[in-house]
Parts: sequence; C-alpha cells; structure tokens
Amino acid sequence: MTHRALRLRLDPAALQENWRWLQRTAGVAAGAAVKADGYGLGAVEVTRLLADVGCRDFFVSTWAEAEALGPLPGDARVAVLHGVGPKDMAAALGGKARPVLNTAEQVQRWKAECGGRPCDVMVDTGMNRLGLRSDEIGLLDGLAIDTLHSHLSCADEDNVMNHVQRDRFAAIAASVTARRYAIANSAGICLGRDYSFDLVRPGLALYGGVPRGEAAGHIVQVAFPEAEIVQRRTIPAGESCGYGATWTATANTEVAIINIGYADGYLRCFTGKGAARAGTRPLPLVGRVSMDLIAIDVSAAPELGEGDWVTLDYSLPEAAEVSGLSQYELLTGLSQRLERRWT
Ligand SMILES: *Cc1c(COP(=O)(O)O)cnc(C)c1O
Repeated sequence: MTHRALRLRLDPAALQENWRWLQRTAGVAAGAAVKADGYGLGAVEVTRLLADVGCRDFFVSTWAEAEALGPLPGDARVAVLHGVGPKDMAAALGGKARPVLNTAEQVQRWKAECGGRPCDVMVDTGMNRLGLRSDEIGLLDGLAIDTLHSHLSCADEDNVMNHVQRDRFAAIAASVTARRYAIANSAGICLGRDYSFDLVRPGLALYGGVPRGEAAGHIVQVAFPEAEIVQRRTIPAGESCGYGATWTATANTEVAIINIGYADGYLRCFTGKGAARAGTRPLPLVGRVSMDLIAIDVSAAPELGEGDWVTLDYSLPEAAEVSGLSQYELLTGLSQRLERRWT
C-alpha cells in the first residue's frame, strides 16, 4: 500500500469510555450520532466500537449515510434524521433504517406508503429547524412511533431556552404515544437528568468534544492528527518563512516543514497560534499555514528529521479556543487525505 505521510490516530478505548461516561451521566439508554461519517472519524468503525460496548441506536442525517454504514451489528438500529422525501421511499422500504419524520408531508407519505411500520418523529420545541409544529401533533395519530424526538438549540449555554424546550417537550410527550422519548445531545446530557427522558443522542462528546464545563475532565481526546516531516532546515536570523513572509526569524531558527495544510482541514486560522508536539515539548507554528504544508519551530527537538512524525495540538476545546472554529468543524473539516488509523 502506498505510504501516507498524514494520518488521524484514533483511540478506540477513549471513544468507548466517552460513550460510557455519557450513558452513566444520563442514566438511560445512550445512542450515538454518527452522521457526517462519524464526525469525520469513520462511521463504520465508530458504530462497531460503540455497538461492542452496548450502544444500540445510531443516528445519521441521510439515507446514503445509512446505506454506507452497511449491515449493523446485532440488534443495533439506525434512524435517519432528515426523514423521508419522495425519492427516499425505496431506500426506506428496502432497508432496516427508520426515518425521523420531520414534516406533515413526511408523516402523510409514511402513513400512505408504509402502513404500520415503525418510525421516529421529531417535534419542534423552539429551535425552528426540523420538526413538526405543535399544531401538527394531531397528525401523528395512527403512527407506530418508536422514538419521539426534539432537539435543543442552546444546550451548550445556560439559556432559558433549555427549560422552555424541555417543558414543552414533556407536555408533548404526555399527549403522544411512543415507545421512547429523547431530547438531549451531548450538551443536553450535561444539563442533568431532567433532560434524559428514555434515550439520549450524543455526538460531539463521543469524539472528544467538551460541550459544557460539566464534561471537562471526563471526556477525553479521541482524534490525534499526525504528520510527517518533509524537510528540516535552519532559517538564518532576519529571513522569513512561508507565504507573505509574515514570520521572520529573530535568531537562527531550526524549522521543520510538515505534511499537513489547509487542504487537509488544518485551516489558516491556526497561523501564529497552532503547535505540534514531540512528546510533551510544544513546537509552535511559524509563518502561514499553506495548502499542504506548515512550518514548525523544532529548536526544542534536535533529534527530529525528515520522515519523523509529529502530533498536532488538537485537543478540541483548546483547539477551538485557539482557532476560533467550533469543535464540530475541527473534526468534520479534516480531509480524507488523513488516513484514519485506530490503534
Ligand atoms: C447531531 C445531532 C445530535 C448530536 O449532537 P451533539 O451536539 O454532537 O452531541 C443529536 N441530535 C440531533 C437531532 C442531531 O442532529
């Protein structure tokens, strides 16, 4: 196999431990949002690893994503968050996945074409993105609802919306028959067990994202971008490095040029702020992030040379702080050039 000089090292035990913490904290069944290819980590592997520790409910956005998961382990189930449009009916009838119906049209389509087959339903409680309005709840009569969902718009903040949405959802749940009820994403789990209902739907925190302070110290990093050194050079005092000559060496500086750049999702907002690491020694970025390369100051690591690997600083809460990107974007923006390697 062709050698790849760029990879995303993935820690399976960390993923599983994060899921266990979320499940324990919620005190009810925990599913997993594996949309966007498992937030960029690889949905097939994530699903297998989480099924191994007891996760049974997986959530994707589209039917194409459900199909890409392949056969699910054991009695695991997948639900499609965007529901079912006219062109999705073949996939919906052919496979094991069930839709999360979001609109009156979707409800009518499902009733007309799928009889009593179980489905999930999303009701809107204030986010005004997907989901049935409160005046459409009556349309649900006659559906075999597995899980009734809603989604919190502000769970990562202390916002009055959280209580409002929770109470609205509890009121709807009292009047709609379903096997289970669910409203909490990762941040919602941190809000307390009032938000657990019967099932929670974490995503970000499984993958090492810290959505709220309550999760700090419990959620651990899962994904570690690593890249090879292409060249090591000494930049003489007074010379610059990289596009725009934005960085100038104040003293002779040892620099390594690394095989990662903005085309890999390591974006230019890390310029002047990001770092790599050799063991515990930080190696700060110098100059601009290029398309396929960055430069780092390796004065602290005299042993590093061509072909050696370094790990980028990519702890999600800190990398978000440094870059101004969200923890979600930091994961889902990583390109397919990074080989996903679970070790
Ligand atoms: C993506 C998503 C989740 C997971 O959210 P996180 O913030 O990543 O935990 C849960 N529910 C719905 C409806 C989603 O779209």
